[in-house]
Amino acid sequence: MIVMKFGGSSLADVERLRAAVALVLAAKGRTPCIVLSAMANTTDALLAAAGAAEQNEADALNRAAAPFRHAREVAAAALSDSQAVQALVAKLEEEVLVLLRGVALLRELTARTSDAIVAHGERVATALFTAMLQDHGLDVTELDAREVVRTDDRFGRARPDFPTICELADRRINRSTRAGRIVVTQGYVGATAQGFTTTLGRGGSDWSAALLAAALGAEELQIWTDVEGVLSADPRTVAAARPVPVLSAAEAAELAAFGARVLHPATIQPAIEAGIAVTVRHTLKPHGQFTTIDPRRRHDRRGVAALAHRGPVIVLTMTSTRMLASAGYLARLFEVFGRLDICVDLVVTAEVSVACTVEPDAPLEQLVRALEGLARVEIARDCAIVAAVGEGLQQTPGTVERACRALHPITPQLVGMGGNARNMSLVVKQSEVDEAMRRLHAEFFSPPAGAANSDQIAEGATS
Ligand code: ASP
Ligand code: MG
Repeated sequence: MIVMKFGGSSLADVERLRAAVALVLAAKGRTPCIVLSAMANTTDALLAAAGAAEQNEADALNRAAAPFRHAREVAAAALSDSQAVQALVAKLEEEVLVLLRGVALLRELTARTSDAIVAHGERVATALFTAMLQDHGLDVTELDAREVVRTDDRFGRARPDFPTICELADRRINRSTRAGRIVVTQGYVGATAQGFTTTLGRGGSDWSAALLAAALGAEELQIWTDVEGVLSADPRTVAAARPVPVLSAAEAAELAAFGARVLHPATIQPAIEAGIAVTVRHTLKPHGQFTTIDPRRRHDRRGVAALAHRGPVIVLTMTSTRMLASAGYLARLFEVFGRLDICVDLVVTAEVSVACTVEPDAPLEQLVRALEGLARVEIARDCAIVAAVGEGLQQTPGTVERACRALHPITPQLVGMGGNARNMSLVVKQSEVDEAMRRLHAEFFSPPAGAANSDQIAEGATS
């Protein structure tokens, strides 16, 4: 069996829903368990309505009505007979309105109430999708995720109880899928042992899907979204960016840390730990390219897998009158950062100075004052970090040389490598970052025929 997760954008309208249904039809031989987000914008709308109700704003109930109205319109257009779904959506809407009235009366929105409200978005999606699959004559059951996804009571960011989820999934899902029945359930939503509705935090349906894939021992976790997998660079900067066929879990984690639009690695961790391949695919381009995050695959020395960038950042160069090597100097220096709650990202040290990057909102004046007597600080604002990520990058000869040559005449102000074996980070001026990304991408991803990255393409031909 496999787990197929569809995100909100894949459920946004009739066309996308039909595409998602077609994908399930094509996969029915693998008895999928389907995990759904709420339809696009629904979660935002319900949270906004809840906030408005707490302020007793007049339009709170109206705000909540919009996603239900949209769901009913979609149901009418997508189903041969939409009566039952219409009635169910109306009932879910009524529940939300009752909860919102309670919030408005009390002028109090607890995290528990917020979860109870927002979970209705996913419930609408599964009701509609189940009906669409049944319309195609499929043997489908809708399962309330709260019967399986057991969590603690940290409402709004609940932590799953994995052993219990395994037990419940075996009883509630495996039995159906073994009988060839497709199960449709909600992502993002869970419940405490006492039955209170919880959510796993924004974007949490990937996490739900990974937990269920691991609990069910799925062959694959498919994340269906609106991009053809993880791209080799941000396409808004590098028009030539293309899907990366295969990533290791650690590469995906590195890219996510750089803000690349990747799955958050923590969310797919349960699947990775269970040795289950995670594929990221485009709902409207099912035959296009996609990315496999494959925990079983080793990629020693693959070269650059993908590029990412992040900015603006500030580069601080701290020069000491003493030698850095003196015992405890760096500890004293960074203790000050810790005290001021400043996160240090990239660090490079030389004999009498240390350079590091920090976020643009760091309290620099305070920092400079606090470092008086320890170090003189030079501040370079409006910088950006460009990173190349790939397993074994450090052992791949010539990576830094190639990068610097490709960047010329842009000169990196800092070069960091070796923090781990799969990341090379270069700091450039923010005004140069787009050009730097395009140059690096051309160097590492558009090799002359037969050169450097051709093995990478061959690698991705499997899945
Ligand atoms: N619908 C939820 C959200 O928008 C969960 C998800 O999409 O993963 O945060
Ligand atoms: Mg969503």
